[in-house]
Amino acid sequence: MIHVETISSHTRTGTLEILWSDGRQQRLTHAFLRTCCQCSHCKSFHLQGKTGDVLPEQLRITEIRPVGMYGVQLIFSDGHDRGIYPWTYLRDLAQ
Ligand SMILES: [Zn+2]
Repeated sequence: MIHVETISSHTRTGTLEILWSDGRQQRLTHAFLRTCCQCSHCKSFHLQGKTGDVLPEQLRITEIRPVGMYGVQLIFSDGHDRGIYPWTYLRDLAQ
């Protein structure tokens, strides 16, 4: 099974880099990940047809918390901390 080898966050550039065990390297911006949040709040927000506010370019991930073998929880600099990102979900994200 494919798993994550390393996950590194670069605050200066606002990018998150994920290295998978099959050698694939994925680079996603913090702001993009914020828009991909799947918490109930963000989901209902999108269901209402809202595309979201324009995110500040300075938006950053401030903390990455492991969620068991399942994925990670990302904490953002705007205070949003409800987003759980399963590995399978992250794997399919493309920017
Ligand atoms: Zn959310």
